[in-house]
Amino acid sequence: MRKDIIVQKFGGTSVADVEKIKNVARAVIREKENGNDVVVVVSAMGHTTDYLVKMAKELNPNPSEREMDMLLSTGEGVSIALLALAIQAQGYEAESLNAMQIGIHTENIHMKARITDIDTTRLELSLSRGKIVVVAGFQGVTEGNEITTLGRGGSDISAVALAAALKAKRCDIYTDVEGVYTTDPRIVPTASRLDEVSYEEMLELAQAGANVLHPRSVEAAKVHGVPMRVRSSFKLDNLGTLILGVDKMEINRAVTGIAADLSQARIVVCGVPDKPGAAAAVFTALADNKISVDMIIQSYADKVANTNDIAFTISADDTDKALEVLNGLKAKWNISKVEANTDIAKVSAVGAGMIGRPGIASKMFQALADANINIRMIATSEIKISCLVNKEDTKKAIRVLHDVFELNSNEIAEVKGTLPEDEI
Ligand code: ASP
Ligand code: MG
Repeated sequence: MRKDIIVQKFGGTSVADVEKIKNVARAVIREKENGNDVVVVVSAMGHTTDYLVKMAKELNPNPSEREMDMLLSTGEGVSIALLALAIQAQGYEAESLNAMQIGIHTENIHMKARITDIDTTRLELSLSRGKIVVVAGFQGVTEGNEITTLGRGGSDISAVALAAALKAKRCDIYTDVEGVYTTDPRIVPTASRLDEVSYEEMLELAQAGANVLHPRSVEAAKVHGVPMRVRSSFKLDNLGTLILGVDKMEINRAVTGIAADLSQARIVVCGVPDKPGAAAAVFTALADNKISVDMIIQSYADKVANTNDIAFTISADDTDKALEVLNGLKAKWNISKVEANTDIAKVSAVGAGMIGRPGIASKMFQALADANINIRMIATSEIKISCLVNKEDTKKAIRVLHDVFELNSNEIAEVKGTLPEDEI
């Protein structure tokens, strides 16, 4: 009978040095000793990827995306071989494989490719021979044998995609925190660890800036019904947080968590003519340049000039590109001005329990008002309310919302690492 397959994923901090790699080897072997077949996905060691990006930019301020993929994919190549060696040193059979060897196929797009399919033949063969398979996260290969990467933080996506392709029993994402918290415990030390969270909530939290999982990995897990666990690489006995279908949960809270995204920019396009096709022109131009838009507001028309202002948020990384694209529309559409501001943050309250429970938005706005925090934009989904605030108000906003929705625990969370000053 075929054994259950468990896919484990260890991020950069978990494989940052030789001692930590030994620790990962122990966690892998432990799962193998539990009687499972194990596929381990790893990221590049520590800050390797950042370091590679930095070097590339020093050599060429405008590096070609193909060469960036050639470069960045090397980071994971180092960690898979080292981990396989560490596992072998403990007397277990292990084999490292990269995306090309396996056939982790992606679209023909560099630096943010999507996985199209995974050939499991080689993986199944190695597993059937009793080997622990160590797979390079973050990378893929096109039909034309070009190396691609999935976007920063993409190893989570690799892990879930492998779990889906192999019909794994579970995908365990090991990290330096003990699970998913009601908010970042570095900001609110009494944040509570959640035992369970639904895919839908996790997706909203991840998109809202909770850095624990890549949103695309949660989306893939939801589509393929892969149960995921976020757990600590250092406390292997702790079960962390299970992420599963909302239908399997009993929801007794309105708000599950508070997240903040500090990496957005607010763009305002002023004086857009109030006529059909104007908004479409703006957002089509952005979409054609692969710039995703998050919150959108179109203001009341200026009756005299017969124009609208359209404000929206995008990833701050895309600011220069967006300004270029939008300035290019100015003449044709008679747009008066395009402005960008990166001194903002999006703070969101997320909870599947919001559905059918009135008053959550008003409670949120009132709490922010009481704390004298100005709301600059608002967006909602069925299970999320987001407010754009000034960056300097981020921590305060998180704290008051965490309090008002009664998310505190009685314990102080054990926090690994501090929040970099420039992060908030
Ligand atoms: N090493 C890649 C990055 O830093 C992928 C990952 O960590 O998941 O973005
Ligand atoms: Mg990383």
